[in-house]
Amino acid sequence: MTEPPAHVDAVVVGAGFAGLYAHHRLRRLGLSIQGFEGAADVGGTWWWNRYPGARCDVESMDYSYSFSDELEQEWTWSERYATQPEILRYVNHVADRFDLRRDIQFETRVTAATWDEDAQRWDIVTDRGDRVSAQFCIMATGCLSEAKQPEIDGIDTFGGEIFHTGRWPHEGVDFSGLRVGVIGTGSSGIQSIPVIARQAAHVTVFQRTPNFTMPAKNAPLDPEAIRARKARAREHRQAMRESRAGVVVPMPEDSALRVDDEAREAQFEKAWESGTLYGMVAAFNDLLVDRDANDTAAEYVRARIREVVEDPEVAERLSPRNHPFGTKRPCLDTEYYATYNRDNVTLVDVRSTPIVAITPTGIRTETDEFAVDAIVFATGFDAMTGPLLRPDITGVGGMTLRDKWADGPRTYLGIATAGFPNFFTITGPGSPSVLVNMLVAIEQHVDWVGDCIAYLRARHLASIDATVEAEDAWVDHVNAVANLTLFPTANSWYMGANVPGKPRVFMPYIGGLPRYTETCDAVAADDYRGFTFSPASAPEPEPSRS
Ligand SMILES: Cc1cc2nc3c(=O)[nH]c(=O)nc-3n(C[C@H](O)[C@H](O)[C@H](O)COP(=O)(O)OP(=O)(O)OC[C@H]3O[C@@H](n4cnc5c(N)ncnc54)[C@H](O)[C@@H]3O)c2cc1C
Repeated sequence: MTEPPAHVDAVVVGAGFAGLYAHHRLRRLGLSIQGFEGAADVGGTWWWNRYPGARCDVESMDYSYSFSDELEQEWTWSERYATQPEILRYVNHVADRFDLRRDIQFETRVTAATWDEDAQRWDIVTDRGDRVSAQFCIMATGCLSEAKQPEIDGIDTFGGEIFHTGRWPHEGVDFSGLRVGVIGTGSSGIQSIPVIARQAAHVTVFQRTPNFTMPAKNAPLDPEAIRARKARAREHRQAMRESRAGVVVPMPEDSALRVDDEAREAQFEKAWESGTLYGMVAAFNDLLVDRDANDTAAEYVRARIREVVEDPEVAERLSPRNHPFGTKRPCLDTEYYATYNRDNVTLVDVRSTPIVAITPTGIRTETDEFAVDAIVFATGFDAMTGPLLRPDITGVGGMTLRDKWADGPRTYLGIATAGFPNFFTITGPGSPSVLVNMLVAIEQHVDWVGDCIAYLRARHLASIDATVEAEDAWVDHVNAVANLTLFPTANSWYMGANVPGKPRVFMPYIGGLPRYTETCDAVAADDYRGFTFSPASAPEPEPSRS
C-alpha cells in the first residue's frame, strides 16, 4: 500500500455509490483526491451486506447511476430486483470502467478530521496513522453503514456463531442442520428469514415490531423491456429526478376516505400487485398525513397477512399495529409471510416477552429459553448520523460535531453544517436520502458539491461555511414538513428510536426530491445564499498531487 500524499484538494471518505461518484465528479474538475474506505474494496452497502436474500428494493434499472449514457447502455441487469452479488458486480464494473480505485486506500478508517483555521484546510487522520491535509472533506460515509448491535446481555457467552446481516462473512454461511435464531424483522430480517428457513433445521424469529412488507414480485427482466427502457433512458432518468421519491410513480389524486370501499380495495390491490416499494404509499394522497386514511392501508395489509398465514395467532403477531403504514421503512419481500407456514419456523414476540439474555446455548426470554446453534442479528443500523459521529470531527473554534449534534443533527440542506467549512455530507440528515431512491439523491448531492467547489475555485475562495441562520431555517423547515405527516409518530430509525439515548428527531427531509432539488439549485444560483466565504488569504499549500 502506497502512502497517501500529505496534501490533496479533497478527501473523500467512503467508497460506496456516493464516494465513487464523488471521485469521478471531482476528478473531472481537476482536483487531487485521496479516498479512504474501511472495507477492503468498493461497494459500501453492497460490500458489507452479503446476507442471504440481500437485494435492492428499488428496481435495478432505476437503482443505478445515470451520469454516463455509455454505462447505462452497456450494463444489463438480469432481475427486476438485483441480488447483492449482482449489484456488487455492477459497482466493480463502474470502478474499473472509470478507474476509480486509483486514489482510494482501502481497509482504512478515517478516525478524525480537524479544521485548521489558519490554513483553511482539514487535517484528516486514519486508523493506520495516515495524516492528510485537504481543502475539502467529503463525507460519503453512507446513511446505513454503521451496523447496530442489539443491547442484550450475554452475547459473549454464546457457544455458537453470531452473525450481523450488515457484516456478513464473505465466504457465506451454511446453516444446514442448524437451529438458527434471527433477532430483528426490519428489511434485512424480512429478506433473509425466508432464505435461511429453506436451509436451516429450524429458525426462531425474535420479533419486537412487525413491519409492513409487500411482495416484490421479483422476476428475470424481459430483454424487450430492457431494450425499450434503454431506448428512452434519458427521458426516464429525467422523469425520475423530477419525481418525489426518485422513481416514476403516478401521483395519487384521491383521498382514501373519499372513495367507496370497492374502489379503495381495487386501488390497494393494484398497488400490492405492482410489487413496488412506493406503490402502496402512493395509492392515495393522504395515507401519510391522515391517520384514518392510513388505517385503511394498514388494514388492507393485515388482511393480506391473514390470507397467507395459516395460524391466526401467528398472523396476528405478524400484523403491524403500533405504527402507521409507511412511517417505518416499508419492505419488499419474497415469500416472507408464507415462511411462517413452515414447520421449521417459530415466531416469538419479544415485545410481550422480552429477551433477557443470550446464554451459552441459546436465547432466553422472560418466559422461555430457545436453544439455537447460530444467531443472526438483523438489527439494522445507527442510521444517518452514526457514521458521521463515529470519527472525531472538529470544526471552527474547537467545536465537535458530536457536541453540535447532541440534540439531533443540524444541517443546511443536509449537505453542510455551520462551523464546519468545506465539509460536505452526501445524503446527510436533512436531505431526502433514505426516503427516496438513493442513487438519484447521491448523484444530485455530488453534482451540487462539485458545482460548489468549481464556484469556489473560479473565485479563488478558500472556504465556504453555512450560516447558523440559514441552517436554523432549514432545520425548522425539515421539522415543519415532517410534522405535517404521520412519520414522527413512529418509533423508527428515521427518528433515531432504534438506538438507546439517540435524540428523537425525524432526520430525513420529507418534502420530496423536486422541491429539495429546486431549493438546492436556487441556493447555488443565488451565489450560495445562506453560506459565507473566506478568501484564499492563507499561505499556499504544497502543490497538489497531479
Ligand atoms: C441491505 C440494504 C439494501 C438497500 N437497498 C436499497 C435500495 O433498494 N434502494 C435504495 O435507494 N437504497 C437502498 N439501500 C440504502 C443504501 O445504503 C444506498 O442505496 C447506497 O448504497 C448508499 O451508498 P453510499 O455510498 O452513500 O453509502 P454506503 O454504501 O453505506 O457506503 C459508505 C461507505 O463508507 C465507509 N465508511 C463509513 N465511515 C467511514 C470512515 N470513518 N472511514 C472510512 N470509511 C468509512 C463504509 O465502510 C461504507 O463502505 C439499502 C441499504 C441496505 C443496507
